[in-house]
Amino acid sequence: MLNLTIKDSFNKELPVDLVKDNTRRQVVEACFSFVKPKKTSNPKILHVSEDMASRLGFYEEKTSSEAFKNIFTGNEIYPNTNPYAMCYGGHQFGHWAGQLGDGRAINLFEVTHNKKNWALQLKGAGETPYSRTADGLAVLRSSIREYLCSEAMYYLGVPTTRALSLALSGDQVLRDVMYDGNPAYEKGAIVCRVAESFLRFGNYQIFTARGDLKTLKTLVDYTIKHHFKYLGEPSKNTYISFFKEVANRSLDMVIHWQRVGFVHGVMNTDNMSILGLTIDYGPYGWLEGYDHGWTPNTTDNTHKRYRYDSQPEIVLWNLYQLANALYPLIEEAEPLEAILESYQEEFPKKYLKMMHYKLGLFSPNEMDEKLIFNLEEVLHKTETDMTIFFRLLSSVSKNDTVKEAIRKIEKAFYTSSEVVGEIKKSWENWFQNYLDRLEKETVLDEERKAKMNTVNPKYVLRNYMAQLAIDDADKGNYALLNELYELLKKPYEEQPKYERWFAKRPEWARNKVGCSMLSCSS
Ligand code: AMP
Ligand code: MG
Repeated sequence: MLNLTIKDSFNKELPVDLVKDNTRRQVVEACFSFVKPKKTSNPKILHVSEDMASRLGFYEEKTSSEAFKNIFTGNEIYPNTNPYAMCYGGHQFGHWAGQLGDGRAINLFEVTHNKKNWALQLKGAGETPYSRTADGLAVLRSSIREYLCSEAMYYLGVPTTRALSLALSGDQVLRDVMYDGNPAYEKGAIVCRVAESFLRFGNYQIFTARGDLKTLKTLVDYTIKHHFKYLGEPSKNTYISFFKEVANRSLDMVIHWQRVGFVHGVMNTDNMSILGLTIDYGPYGWLEGYDHGWTPNTTDNTHKRYRYDSQPEIVLWNLYQLANALYPLIEEAEPLEAILESYQEEFPKKYLKMMHYKLGLFSPNEMDEKLIFNLEEVLHKTETDMTIFFRLLSSVSKNDTVKEAIRKIEKAFYTSSEVVGEIKKSWENWFQNYLDRLEKETVLDEERKAKMNTVNPKYVLRNYMAQLAIDDADKGNYALLNELYELLKKPYEEQPKYERWFAKRPEWARNKVGCSMLSCSS
């Protein structure tokens, strides 16, 4: 037996779908539907996050047991638990899409351990009433991407959902990767995701959209009771503070994304966690060349709604939608508007503070804003790797000449031969100003370097790295998957044995599917 401390509340305290059969339909006046995971033909656990497992109260021998395998691939149901899929809606690419819901996520149960409550869900475990036209399954490539990246984000210090396990289902899944009429079979996989809660903005929106204020209130009160207890008993004022908290957390989350160069790719309101966690790792990506206009999602290639520099604004847009959803419980627009305005005031301040840290500017100075703005401009002049640039910037010393300083970061340039003439001059100017500014810093070079290295990661999960692990795993070789997992557990440490991953994206990966752009197919 696994001996977990089960403490279900979502499927015990909230209204359930009264229709019992697992057919695709509109589910009304309910927060979820009971549904059992699909049985898999030949499940195999590929990886377990031992850190997550120990937080849930597992011991190592238990995660290698048959019971673990069966429960976390859907073949067995943990005694006295009732798996379910959640009902939610959402705005997709700016348009209200109606009911979406857990189309392929099945929540297993909630676990309490060390005074913390966790919800566990399987992604890719079969059809639910919310599956719409799709099959409820997930393929190995997207599951590896979600598994590795959610754990990598956690170790980067970015608020995120986590993962407990990655498994093959043993079944084949049909996907048309490029949406060009060439479907092919791929290996099916299941990730067990873990978070304090998987509630999204869309969970609230759906009830307001349907005029079902009773269920809306029940869900908001439940959320406050279980996840925002410190705000007090539910009341109009508490609802306002609740919205303020969600706005603050969402802002913190997106500042972290900008800091590490993460682009989510599909910031629809159904992919916005009410707890301010990064959720739903689909066609995400990491900035390689520092390019504000970049998005990894091929589906968004024309409008680039979810490009890197729009992310903070999109969070705000999504918060407007949440404000609209909560409005019927508050019936006053002003306090909600004030919170949205304060987001707009706070964002530039927090962004600048984060950038100060990335640049190692710890004693505030009036020239800083311009210095930061100018850096963003120069970084766009020639393709410059974001991660490598900021990491190497910490080795610049106050006593360097401009030439020495540029030499220290030049590994970040994709085409060094372009750094001549005007471009070279811009870099020289910028470094001259930066070195002048460092003069005014009171901390020593070594101390500044150490502090900068706590916010500028050395290793991130570049798309081509994930793709290499996927290609190997597809052939049954998991060594690289294991290696990347280990590497990404310590993204801020030097880790000399993994130095080969401190490298720019290789040229072969520039336009390769999975390495630069990704479709939503998963
Ligand atoms: P996403 O774009 O991944 O956030 O998904 C949007 C909606 O589509 C959610 O309601 C998902 O549950 C659903 N969905 C995505 N892929 C599948 C699938 N293979 N089967 C069923 N539902 C899916
Ligand atoms: Mg989603």
